[in-house]
Amino acid sequence: MTKAASAAAKDLAAAGVAGAQLAWADNNGIPRSRIVPIAGLGEAATRGVGATTLFAVFDSHDTITYAHPLLATPSGDIRLVPVIERLRRLAGQPALAWAPVRQVAADGSPWPYCQRSVLERQVAAAAERGFELRAGYELEFAVAPAGSPDIASSPGHRGPAYSPHALVELDAFIAALLHDFEANGLPLYQLHAEYGLAQLELSLRATDPVAAADDQLLARQTIHAAAHAHGLRASFAPVVDPEAVGNGWHLHTSLWRNGCNLLAGIPDAEGAGYLAGLLRDLPALTAVTAPSVPSTARLRPGYFASAYGFWGVENREAPLRYVPDSELLGTAHANVELKPSDASANPYLALAVVLAAGLAGIEEALTLPEPIAEDPGTWTEERRAAAGVTRLPRTPAEQDAALISSPRITGVLGEELLGAFRAVRESDLKWAAERDIDEIVAAHLWRY
Ligand code: GLU
Ligand code: MG
Repeated sequence: MTKAASAAAKDLAAAGVAGAQLAWADNNGIPRSRIVPIAGLGEAATRGVGATTLFAVFDSHDTITYAHPLLATPSGDIRLVPVIERLRRLAGQPALAWAPVRQVAADGSPWPYCQRSVLERQVAAAAERGFELRAGYELEFAVAPAGSPDIASSPGHRGPAYSPHALVELDAFIAALLHDFEANGLPLYQLHAEYGLAQLELSLRATDPVAAADDQLLARQTIHAAAHAHGLRASFAPVVDPEAVGNGWHLHTSLWRNGCNLLAGIPDAEGAGYLAGLLRDLPALTAVTAPSVPSTARLRPGYFASAYGFWGVENREAPLRYVPDSELLGTAHANVELKPSDASANPYLALAVVLAAGLAGIEEALTLPEPIAEDPGTWTEERRAAAGVTRLPRTPAEQDAALISSPRITGVLGEELLGAFRAVRESDLKWAAERDIDEIVAAHLWRY
């Protein structure tokens, strides 16, 4: 790998690249990075770059919590090892290349807090059983002129929703996104003006889960750089204004075996177990895929963000929106969209827990209830109870209780990472307890 890294570094240097940004996402979904001069990339690929062990216990406000007993002192170092196969030049920041990192212990052995390695292990375990996950993210975000304190006081577009006119004033930014996604190797499917406040959405094509998580991370960097270059700033926060529609980072997945999409033809297909597994673990999944204090504010009925635990066919209020195959689209098209998912989730952990919950559903041959076509948020409590539809966790405390009650989800994280993750959530919660919703929203607005 050193050889490949050194060769890549040489080519990049010749093309004018001065440094490589080595990136990962922490337990708050916040990207963190180190930049090495391009000549140092070969060494970084062999020995890694040093960093504190405490990145595992940074909370959403850059405060380190010492509440996790295994990381309770300021002593200790890990190594950040770039994944050279994923090295790319950044079109919007031409002096830089970019690569995701694996976090390893100082002696090179596995580091149990490395989120990317957690996903790699899940993917390998699924492959051993003959299963392959395909995943693609849909990213919603709001834009405002650079320097704006928030979105509401100076929205970057004024709609109408889905209108080409909304995008005219953002034309140069949109052009840069189209160009830079292509140049950065990010497989864009489509983009549009969404119906939220100054909101845009773009979706990435499905790929293997580790690439999908890497790409989600790089997509953030690509969007931020393009926004900056065009006098804008982008907010990926789950909520940009307490009253407004939130930003979902919906996660589309399908499960394959022997080249067949098991989600085609639901509910009869074997993949029904996958869906039933996601349904069973929705509350615990949500604690990982939408884990921040603003996430719980986003998950309200009537906002297409999802609030109750159920599945539906193309139902936009459903946390599990099944997207069927058709004669026109083919069987590859079938997938399920997880809506309680946002930018405050670590993308590697999000995919790892989704995969584990779904596979457990198949292995235990869980069965699916009937899909729901309506919005149960408009039903009476009695009707919801009769249909077995319960509210997704509303508070961080409810999320934590759901998380620890699912051995499937806690098992994916492992004791160490689970401990750090919960300590971080607790630290966020303490911070939020003294603040009102406006202050909470403002503090998360530009963090992702
Ligand atoms: N903005 C909504 C959310 O918070 C999603 C809207 C849609 O269905 O695309 O997830
Ligand atoms: Mg959308």
